[in-house]
Amino acid sequence: MTEPVPTVDMEKLVSLCQRRGFIFQSSDIYGGLNSCWDYGPLGVELKRNIKEAWWRANVQERDDMVGLDTSILMHPNVWEASGHLTGFSDPLVECKQCHLRWRADQLEGDRCPSCGGELTEPRQFNMMFKTFMGPVEEDAAVVYLRPETAQGIFVNFDNVVNTTRKRLPFGIAQIGKAFRNEITTGNFIFRSREFEQMEIEFFVKPGMDKEWFEYWVQERLNWYSRLGIRRENLQLRPHGEDELAHYASMCSDIEYLFPMGWSELEGIANRGDFDLRQHVEHSGKNLEYYDDVTNEHYLPYVIEPSAGVDRSALAFLCDAYTEEPDKDEIRVLLKLHPDLAPVKVAVLPLSRKENLTAFARAIYADLRQHLITSYDDTQSIGRRYRRQDEVGTPYCVTVDFASLEDNRVTIRERDTMNQIRVPIGALRDTLQAKLAGEDLFVLPEGGEVWKEG
Ligand code: ATP
Repeated sequence: MTEPVPTVDMEKLVSLCQRRGFIFQSSDIYGGLNSCWDYGPLGVELKRNIKEAWWRANVQERDDMVGLDTSILMHPNVWEASGHLTGFSDPLVECKQCHLRWRADQLEGDRCPSCGGELTEPRQFNMMFKTFMGPVEEDAAVVYLRPETAQGIFVNFDNVVNTTRKRLPFGIAQIGKAFRNEITTGNFIFRSREFEQMEIEFFVKPGMDKEWFEYWVQERLNWYSRLGIRRENLQLRPHGEDELAHYASMCSDIEYLFPMGWSELEGIANRGDFDLRQHVEHSGKNLEYYDDVTNEHYLPYVIEPSAGVDRSALAFLCDAYTEEPDKDEIRVLLKLHPDLAPVKVAVLPLSRKENLTAFARAIYADLRQHLITSYDDTQSIGRRYRRQDEVGTPYCVTVDFASLEDNRVTIRERDTMNQIRVPIGALRDTLQAKLAGEDLFVLPEGGEVWKEG
């Protein structure tokens, strides 16, 4: 079997993202802030769609999950209890010659990868960002920006049990920002210092954890596949004994074949009762769960699927990026799943003649209330189709002069470039059905189909 190769190189993707308004360097006009990124008009829609798809699959469509949104700043003792104050560090080495800093565990040789100089002995570098609460910068007021969303869930475990009456097994899901002062960042949005996580803590009866761990590994793998990532570009990598974090008894990474090679997209860990036990010890609160079936009190075990929004966005973009020969040109398209595509429909009047634009604008105004829709009346229709292809818009609706006579418009499909003509009265339903994945070639009454070109 041949090894799969990455589908796009990073430079091409970064350039498309900047040129078309997906992702910009943060504080660009001041020369940029290293490893911080801003999501532009299309990027923000993509990101919202990823979070929405995750929330829908994990919270809305399940009866064993509830959501939470906890604060970024937490009591400093939380990080003492979780082990982050002492243990959340990477080994840092510095080149004695050029003074560049590196993560010792990521280096292949023992000399500076940049200049070949000698490196210092590694020292542990804590990755939590510190800040001060209140007006006086004194030690007592030091707080941290959370390096993961998980702890907000653990410290609310009791609140959730008491208010929702959820019984085991059940999970708590959260999406939110996390901050890590990473020693080395890079590969675009893959590793940054401010990023977003989508985390689940799934609480189970001790003894049931192995089964649930396997369940969540499969479930999360399927989620990426369902949203269009090719299975051959995903792989599971179970952690070896020596690699496991201090809190985990089992861990598997879901890896994606990014342009720089296989890298972690999401980690799924069996954390046992480590976190709840630590919080019991440090807070003095009893966080045991009362099992009314067996009449026992115990601390549940936890399975944690922890994903990154930004890494997911990068994986979805990479996997969607396609170049196709088209006459003498190369057609660039993002074959994004319709649920993820930033814009669902573009309305394109064939010319700027007033009667045509008025007609097209009325269609745009209607569709916009139901779907993220854009309107474009500049340049040739071919150029406009290509522009929509490049940002992954699944459907274009073209309004031509015949539309004024027969009240029908053309729907053009991104991936196949097939076109169908439908009565305006059936337009919205047809688009919504197609976006929901119903058969692309079922035509409404009065419709016809042909191929672009
Ligand atoms: P890595 O080994 O790549 O540093 P990690 O194992 O420390 O990652 P986790 O602590 O398991 O990462 O975090 C869960 C998820 O959060 C990761 O799978 C990733 O998607 C995301 N994530 C973690 N750190 C970053 C970062 N610096 N930038 C962007 N996303 C991140």
